[in-house]
Amino acid sequence: MARYTGAVCRLCRREGDKLFLKGDRCYTGKCAIDRRPYPPGQHGKLRKKVSEYGLQLREKQKAKRIYGVLETQFRNYFEEADRKKGITGDNLLITLESRLDNVAYKAGLGRSRTEARQVVRHNHVLVNGKRVNIPSYLVKAGDVIQIAEKSHGIQRFKDIFESTSGRPVAEWLSVDLDSYTVKVLALPTREQITVPVLETLIVELYSK
Ligand code: SF4
Repeated sequence: MARYTGAVCRLCRREGDKLFLKGDRCYTGKCAIDRRPYPPGQHGKLRKKVSEYGLQLREKQKAKRIYGVLETQFRNYFEEADRKKGITGDNLLITLESRLDNVAYKAGLGRSRTEARQVVRHNHVLVNGKRVNIPSYLVKAGDVIQIAEKSHGIQRFKDIFESTSGRPVAEWLSVDLDSYTVKVLALPTREQITVPVLETLIVELYSK
């Protein structure tokens, strides 16, 4: 599967916002956007006037980068969100939040969404007792996500949990890291989604 393999901190600097793509490093003084808060590249420091289209495009890119989704899949999520009842922008963000890799990240099974995705891909995760290794799998209310028993002793999980155990947990999840279990109490409402994205700009972009 195609994926972005460049320097991820450049993506934050490009969007002018902390996207928290690198786990623990994002919370330290080593964060690139704290040290160089301007876009990457030779002309990054020059101020440019951004058009309405430019703002909409940047917002879409930001959402894609936060969730690690490529263009085609993102567009499919949008079209699906548009077909559903309710507000398209809300539907879009709720779908993105429901991805298994995002839920694993929110629950502390990874220090970043990238790490959580790797945990899923490497067959460590069960959903309702069945192994699921598809990061884009969409969870439902009532689903129970666990780290497979065979993986419990792996040092990597101990390190991850040590780092994520103090992190606030999303209200729509119930997490017990001692038993490696996460329960989806309900899908999130828009108000419970904290990513810095103005979804109305994305809807405007795709509605042109
Ligand atoms: Fe973004 Fe994290 Fe890199 Fe800071 S350290 S620029 S938040 S990925």
